[in-house]
Amino acid sequence: MKKCLLCKKCVKWNGTKPKYCSRKCYGVSRRGTGNSNYKGGHYIDCDGYKRIRLPYNDKRNKSHPYIGEHRMVMEKHLNRILKSIEIVHHINGNKLDNRIRNLVVTNQSIHASEHGKLLNPFRKRKKGRYIASK
Ligand SMILES: [Zn+2]
Ligand SMILES: [Zn+2]
Repeated sequence: MKKCLLCKKCVKWNGTKPKYCSRKCYGVSRRGTGNSNYKGGHYIDCDGYKRIRLPYNDKRNKSHPYIGEHRMVMEKHLNRILKSIEIVHHINGNKLDNRIRNLVVTNQSIHASEHGKLLNPFRKRKKGRYIASK
């Protein structure tokens, strides 16, 4: 399963088609603006994160004004905008549990190893090699 380049929803691949989930996303990516295509609300992206709409005054991503709710919660908590290298991790592994006490700011390498720990029990030994469960 791949994800849409714009909204990160899961897409079923179909060879030659553009890498977007829908004509909408494709159109938005081409035109650069597409606010009218999205009307509030939230959705769950391909990685299992809940994405919510950015506030109106937040101009970070005009073409697709959605952000992971966990990042938004952390930004409110820290009272600053997170850098792109900062990753918000869910301590209990539940990506929909966006309570501040379940969130911690980390970086990519620490984050990967945290998930390595979480995934470990699900790894299978096959022909002498470890393979990720994904
Ligand atoms: Zn999309
Ligand atoms: Zn994580």
